[in-house]
Amino acid sequence: MCSGVGNMRLVFLGPPGAGKGTLAESVAAAFGLTHLSSGDMLRAAIAAGTPLGSKVKGYVEAGKLVPQEILGEVVAARLAEVGGFVLDGYPRTVEQADFLGRLPGVSLEAVIYVTVPEEEAVRRLLGRRVCSVCGALVNTEELDSENCPACGGALVARADDAPATIKKRYEIYQKETAPLVSYYRAGGLLREIDGVGPRPEVLSRLEAELAPLAACGHDNG
Ligand code: ADP
Repeated sequence: MCSGVGNMRLVFLGPPGAGKGTLAESVAAAFGLTHLSSGDMLRAAIAAGTPLGSKVKGYVEAGKLVPQEILGEVVAARLAEVGGFVLDGYPRTVEQADFLGRLPGVSLEAVIYVTVPEEEAVRRLLGRRVCSVCGALVNTEELDSENCPACGGALVARADDAPATIKKRYEIYQKETAPLVSYYRAGGLLREIDGVGPRPEVLSRLEAELAPLAACGHDNG
């Protein structure tokens, strides 16, 4: 389906630590789309102490899925405000995928499935830090300093990046989210990207995969 570059509607799928957040952000910037991360939305609500934040805090910090009854309407409301989007972290269950599929005006162009072996993904999560000042995401493997390369702020690990919570998130991914691979493959939407390798390399693989959709947008004006 073609809908114009700035109106593309994409979903990013992949295990925790696959790097989908950073990739989704780069793709959104490159194609003029809105990056919507369910995890970022939930963490922002928790940090701001909103009613939503207090409802979801326990789930997020334990690495458990937030119930669809809470999250569905939040995602639907955000999607209704934007044009083209890169949705990252949602859907994570077949129930959520069905819900997304029923929302008016959000038929998807593609679902990008980022693959990374579990060992590599867990290593990345264990090294992941976020800057307590500017919010930049970094990995200790790519740093030679204890501070944020962007602003010098102190780096902290996310509460749900503790080893036991990572294991739990991985189990939930296998059980609840992995079935979406065949769900979207059956719908002809799935595009698989090898997420292993230096970031610029992975990104150029991804852009090559998306180029036909973008070209399709140019043809149609
Ligand atoms: P990850 O690094 O695991 O991809 P995210 O930032 O996407 O992390 O999500 C962090 C947490 O937010 C999840 O462990 C879960 O508690 C909650 N969450 C995010 N998206 C969803 C979703 N679609 N359904 C239920 N819970 C979600």
